[in-house]
Amino acid sequence: MANELRWGIKLKSSNKPHIIVVGAGLSGLAASLEIERLGGSVTILERTESLGGRIKTDRLNGFLLDHGFQVLLTSYPELKQLKISDSMNLKAFLSGAICHRKHSTYRVINPLRHFFRFLKNSHNISFETYLDFLKLASIIYSKVPLKYSTDKLLKKKNISFDTKHYFLEPFFGGVFLDTQLDARAQIFVEYLRLFLYGFATLPEQGMQALPRAIYNKLKNTRILFHQEVKEVGEGSVLLADGDQISGDAVIVAVDNPAYKALVKGSWAIESKSVRCFYFSAPKGHIKNSPFLHVGNGGPISNLCIPNHIQPSYAPKGFDLISATVVSQDWQEKNDLQKVVGENVSSWLSIPKDILSLVKSYYIKHALPFQKTPPMLDNEVKMKGFETVFLAGEIVQPPSINGALVSGRKAGKAALLAVKRPL
Ligand SMILES: Cc1cc2nc3c(=O)[nH]c(=O)nc-3n(C[C@H](O)[C@H](O)[C@H](O)COP(=O)(O)OP(=O)(O)OC[C@H]3O[C@@H](n4cnc5c(N)ncnc54)[C@H](O)[C@@H]3O)c2cc1C
Repeated sequence: MANELRWGIKLKSSNKPHIIVVGAGLSGLAASLEIERLGGSVTILERTESLGGRIKTDRLNGFLLDHGFQVLLTSYPELKQLKISDSMNLKAFLSGAICHRKHSTYRVINPLRHFFRFLKNSHNISFETYLDFLKLASIIYSKVPLKYSTDKLLKKKNISFDTKHYFLEPFFGGVFLDTQLDARAQIFVEYLRLFLYGFATLPEQGMQALPRAIYNKLKNTRILFHQEVKEVGEGSVLLADGDQISGDAVIVAVDNPAYKALVKGSWAIESKSVRCFYFSAPKGHIKNSPFLHVGNGGPISNLCIPNHIQPSYAPKGFDLISATVVSQDWQEKNDLQKVVGENVSSWLSIPKDILSLVKSYYIKHALPFQKTPPMLDNEVKMKGFETVFLAGEIVQPPSINGALVSGRKAGKAALLAVKRPL
């Protein structure tokens, strides 16, 4: 494919505006979809061999392994607009969590999603916890902008130690990849709402089914893999191998660290990394558990058995366990795999010698630190340029929904800026 590119080639076809998109992650794909919808065509340049950027799924010995535990929330407004959920055969977690304390567990169940289960579980929950939920509900419906951290918000609201330490810190620490909950309170509240009103789901073919489903909707887009863009200019890009290609406009849809090199005036926000361990266990040892497990005190922030939600994640006769280590201190420990195995065995009450490691992943830049709003919050055009547009976590919050919103907005802005009369 690289042979198609020669220095200075213009990638225009007939009278249609042609846009170059840098990056085949969700934001680049969403931009392409919008450009096509408005009558343009697209060439995506992607430096790796893979579609979907940070959303990737490996198949190994019959297991589906997402690169880091991720879920697709049905409440994401942008997902609803795309109308692709049916094609992915989504299956949902029970909405809530099993919270692991040192010597006991308790269940949190979302009353808006499972009212009767919630009532049945009510004896399991202390009065203090109920009060905490009422306090959290009052935050969700408040319209006052929150200009401090999530941790500060929970302190202001006097959330009890148990709810904060064993539920909110590991649960939302897993969402932000920040166990201290230094992320903005505003974003916490938005997620709380999304989790309350939607379901966390897994697609039948793993999380990479999401970018594939968007790609399947594209008709006038081609993707060139192994093409690293080194420089971006007015309507054109320079590749690492020296080729230059141009279209009518360029959309930069890369991750935060890559932005620093490509976009003047941007800088690297601290990256949050994550480690995810996948273990297998012979079936029959783990009780059916379609919940997310969360807790504190060991390396694991959250754990789940993906095939208890979506059976395609494990071959017959096996369970797959996904265990996520968010804490930066724990991520650096030498004997981490062993300690994670012990943590899994204790949370699931299973012998540790039945666990075998399938694979582990270290994702250096999983998310940017969400202490502040995105670097160029809601901007859509690169400063000083007429035909260079921006998408991704530099302009919208780092999430599936944020990536889709940013791509749609950049695609629209780019096309409207260059559209020629037919
Ligand atoms: C472990 C993990 C868990 C997550 N969990 C969730 C979750 O549960 N829910 C949720 O909503 N979000 C979650 N996210 C976040 C979500 O996956 C991302 O916000 C989203 O996928 C980002 O999409 P993007 O297109 O903006 O960036 P990316 O996916 O990073 O795509 C950018 C693309 O640009 C390419 N690129 C970079 N530089 C260049 C260059 N110079 N030339 C050419 N190509 C280049 C990259 O190779 C990449 O393919 C999670 C992320 C991770 C890693």
